Amino acid sequence: MSTETLNDTQVTKLVAALGKIVGPENVLDRALGRKKYTGDQSWLSISAAAQNRQLSRQDAVASPTTTEQVAAIVRLANDLKVPVTPFGGGSGVQGAANADKGGILLNLRGMNKIRHLDEHSLTCTVEGGYICKEFEAWLNERGLCFTHYPASTEWATVGGCLAARGSGVLSTKYGKIEEHVLSVEVVTPTGEILRTPSVPRHAVGPELTQLLIGSEGTLGIITAVTVRLRKLQARRAFGTFTFAKLEDGIEAGRRIMTNGLKPAVLRLYDANATQHSLERAVQSGLKDPAMVLMCDGDLPSLVDAEALECFKICKDMGGKDLGAKPAETWWEKRYVFYYPPFAPELPSIWCTMDVVADFSHIADAYYKVTKAMKEAVDPKWNLSLNTHFSHWYEWGSMIYPRFKIPTGPSNYEEALALHDKIVHDATKAALAAGAVINDHHGVGMRLAPYMKDQFGAAGMKTLAQIKRGLDPNNVFCPGKLGITV
Ligand SMILES: Cc1cc2nc3c(=O)[nH]c(=O)nc-3n(C[C@H](O)[C@H](O)[C@H](O)COP(=O)(O)OP(=O)(O)OC[C@H]3O[C@@H](n4cnc5c(N)ncnc54)[C@H](O)[C@@H]3O)c2cc1C
Repeated sequence: MSTETLNDTQVTKLVAALGKIVGPENVLDRALGRKKYTGDQSWLSISAAAQNRQLSRQDAVASPTTTEQVAAIVRLANDLKVPVTPFGGGSGVQGAANADKGGILLNLRGMNKIRHLDEHSLTCTVEGGYICKEFEAWLNERGLCFTHYPASTEWATVGGCLAARGSGVLSTKYGKIEEHVLSVEVVTPTGEILRTPSVPRHAVGPELTQLLIGSEGTLGIITAVTVRLRKLQARRAFGTFTFAKLEDGIEAGRRIMTNGLKPAVLRLYDANATQHSLERAVQSGLKDPAMVLMCDGDLPSLVDAEALECFKICKDMGGKDLGAKPAETWWEKRYVFYYPPFAPELPSIWCTMDVVADFSHIADAYYKVTKAMKEAVDPKWNLSLNTHFSHWYEWGSMIYPRFKIPTGPSNYEEALALHDKIVHDATKAALAAGAVINDHHGVGMRLAPYMKDQFGAAGMKTLAQIKRGLDPNNVFCPGKLGITV
């Protein structure tokens, strides 16, 4: 029996109708569409695709180049009652961009124009499909920068970063993506074009922009966004410290943040991550929990003064001062961690759990989550676990435990069960420790089952009511974010 939701005749009609909107050359049918777009970069998607059990099951792929085309496709999807899944760079690691319920995969990479640069206000309106790295290069040529640098900058789109509520390496100073945004242009689930107020601080009712950020394609397709820019920084000051105990590093970070200091980079690695990840790149003989710090800005004297205050706090907490070099080397090599030989590949099993909590809970979250991950796995699988605290706020921090099993069970079901058990136990441990189950990778297929634990019944009902109100035919990413309508 076929497991497809559309039969061949319906797919042929869908492909033809999409061709009328974007041109036949910008549409792929089911076979070609599935071949080209196998899924996002999560282990879930990659391992399933390698087993010919692809999670992204689109019936067609359409590649629009204008907002009007996106709106027309969405109206068609409503007429035919077929799902629509926006696809940016496909660099997500939670399975969010998979068209798991079939229908139309909307490739947004053709939405890649700069619409307006305002060098006076330092803002830019850019289309949602623009690749972050290319956007940054375009700005740098003009002496400007975006300051949102996810490690996936080479693949991630600006719209995808907003949709997943992402974070960049300089977030401790410049904020998560939601703090970079002034306004958005969005195609609603019924095919209308919505433009939110031009600035984010106002008193004209609720802040719709923020409702749409993090909605992972369930409430709107982000076709353009106006972001704030910065001038390219004139000065960067680096520092590296090691701590006898991880807790001392956490306390140093807390004091830095609660004293109103704003280092652009504050990364604290536990002993495992220091030895097996950071040290591999910086080659400085690091063993104890290590912190890399960087302050930046336009006025060198202010940057240096801020860095000195951060360094003083680290020393007060017993931090051993290793100078600028290791941190500088980390900065130069900061992307190597995401490519081979650092990045895991099949037949490994891997995943990152990024959870966030306030300062009263973050240390407990670290211990509970890492303990749960270790205990979830039989020692025979040689689990490796490296954790760092990489994005800090005035009120707390996040932990980024990255696990890898070099070679898991050869049976796919067993490998999947092992992966899911680690994720399950770690997520439950995070909740028990008072943490929020994700900081910046989003929910996707991986964390959807835990949304009810996170929000409770009333929270899920509220999300479902918003979804139902905006998307009466439930065409945008049905079932995603764990929302049942
Ligand atoms: C090696 C590696 C390193 C990473 N490092 C980071 C990091 O440092 N920081 C970080 O935040 N993330 C990181 N990620 C995760 C990923 O890059 C981010 O989640 C990123 O925001 C996804 O952008 P994308 O364009 O690839 O989106 P996709 O993966 O294509 O989609 C992600 C979600 O957004 C939806 N979506 C995409 N575009 C739109 C749009 N225009 N409108 C509405 N919905 C849309 C999709 O349907 C899906 O739900 C990393 C991933 C990898 C593989």
